[in-house]
Amino acid sequence: MNKQVLSILGATGSIGLSTLDVVARHPERFEVFALTGHRQVEKLAELCRQHAPRIAVVAGASEAQTLRELLGAGARTEVLHGASALDMVASAPEVTTVMAAIVGAAGLSSSLAAARAGKRLLLANKEALVMAGELFIDAVRAAGATLLPIDSEHNAIFQSLPAGFDYGLNQCGVRRIVLTASGGPFRTAAVDSLHTVTPDQACAHPNWVMGRKISVDSATMMNKGLEVIEARWLFGVPGERIGVLIHPESVIHSMVEYDDGSVLAQLGNPDMRTPIAHALSYPQRISAGVSPLNLAKVGRLTFEDPDFRRFPCLQLAYQALQAGGTAAASLNAANEEAVAAFLGGKLRFDRIAGTVGEVLEQASHASASSLGDVLDADARARHAARELIRAYA
Ligand code: NAD
Ligand code: MG
Repeated sequence: MNKQVLSILGATGSIGLSTLDVVARHPERFEVFALTGHRQVEKLAELCRQHAPRIAVVAGASEAQTLRELLGAGARTEVLHGASALDMVASAPEVTTVMAAIVGAAGLSSSLAAARAGKRLLLANKEALVMAGELFIDAVRAAGATLLPIDSEHNAIFQSLPAGFDYGLNQCGVRRIVLTASGGPFRTAAVDSLHTVTPDQACAHPNWVMGRKISVDSATMMNKGLEVIEARWLFGVPGERIGVLIHPESVIHSMVEYDDGSVLAQLGNPDMRTPIAHALSYPQRISAGVSPLNLAKVGRLTFEDPDFRRFPCLQLAYQALQAGGTAAASLNAANEEAVAAFLGGKLRFDRIAGTVGEVLEQASHASASSLGDVLDADARARHAARELIRAYA
C-alpha cells in the first residue's frame, strides 16, 4: 500500500486536530508533509514536534520567526509564511492528499490550488464552495481531482448515494436530499431574548465542539444555509430538491430520498473523526477512535421542520442560491463580517441576519464566471457589511 502524503491546512483548528488524531492511529497509511496554523504558533510548534512535517506555514514573517525559535536549530521542519505558501503546500508534487480545513474565505485560494493540482481533496472549508461553487467543481473535473466532503452532512449524503452518482442524480433515481440540523443552542429559546446572547452562549453547541465561527453559524443556522449551497455544488442538485430537517440528537447525519420511497441515511455519534476517517481511507474503512453508536441508550430520535422566522439566515441562503451568480459569495462575506463583529462584541446576535439580508439586497448579483468576479463581490459585501455594523454600533 502506498502511503498517502498529507498537507493539512488549518491543522491547529478543530478539524485539523481531529484529522491528526485519526492520522496518528495509522502511521502505516499516512505521512504528514505540511501543517499550517496561521497565528496559532505555539499550538503549531507542538504539532510539528509530534508529527515532524517537512513544512509548516504561518501567517507572516514574525510568526515564522517565532516558530523557528520554538522549534530550535536543527529542526526537520522548514517554516514558510503567507498565502502563496499555503497554495504551494496544497499543490506540491510530493503531496497526494490535502485536508482543506482553514475557516472562511481565507481558505478559498489554497482549496482551489489543491483542486487544480488534481489532489485527493478532503474539503471541510465549505465557504470555498459557497463562494465559487461552479468554478470550484469545474476545476476539480478539469484536473481529475477527487473531492471528498468532510462536512458531516455531505459526507453522510456521499455515503448514502450509489457509487458513481457523478453522472447525475436523476439517473440514480434520487428525488431529494435532506440535510439534518441540530437547531443549535437557541432552538427553543424565546426569539425576543436573542438580542442578549453572548459569544460564549452562542458557541456552546449542544452536540458538537467546533471552531467559534462555525459555532455561531450553527446558532443562527447560517451554517445549514451554507451547507445547502455546498450540497448544490457537491451533488449537482437544485436548491428546491435540498431539504433541511431539524434533528436535535445529531445521530442521523443526513439522508437521501429515492424515487421508490426509500430513504438512506448515515448514522453515528456526533464526532468529526468519522467523516474524516471515511474520506481519508475511502473506499476502504479504518478505525477512527469513535465510540460505537448505542441507539438503545439514545432511546429516541426526534425531528421538526425549521422555522424561518426563528432562523432567517437559513432563508437568506436559499434566496442567495436562487439568485445565483455572485450572490452566495456576497452572503458568505457579509456573514463572515457580521459573525466576526458579534464575536468581537461589536454586533448584537440578532442583528447578524439583518446585516446579511441588507447586504444581499444591496448587492448586484453579477455572474460568477471568474475568480475575480467572486473576489470583487466578496470585497464589496465586506465593505457594505462593515458600514452597516458601524451604523448599528
Ligand atoms: P477553527 O477555527 O477551529 O480552525 C481554523 C483553522 O484555520 C486554524 O488552523 C487557523 O489557524 C486557520 N486559520 C484561521 N484564519 C486563517 C487565515 N486567515 N489564513 C489561514 N489560516 C487561517 O475552525 P474549524 O471548526 O476547524 O473549521 C474549519 C473549517 O471546517 C470551516 O470551514 C468549517 O465550516 C468547517 N467545518 C468544521 C466542522 C467542525 O466540527 N469544526 C464541521 C464541519 C465543517
Ligand atoms: Mg455540517
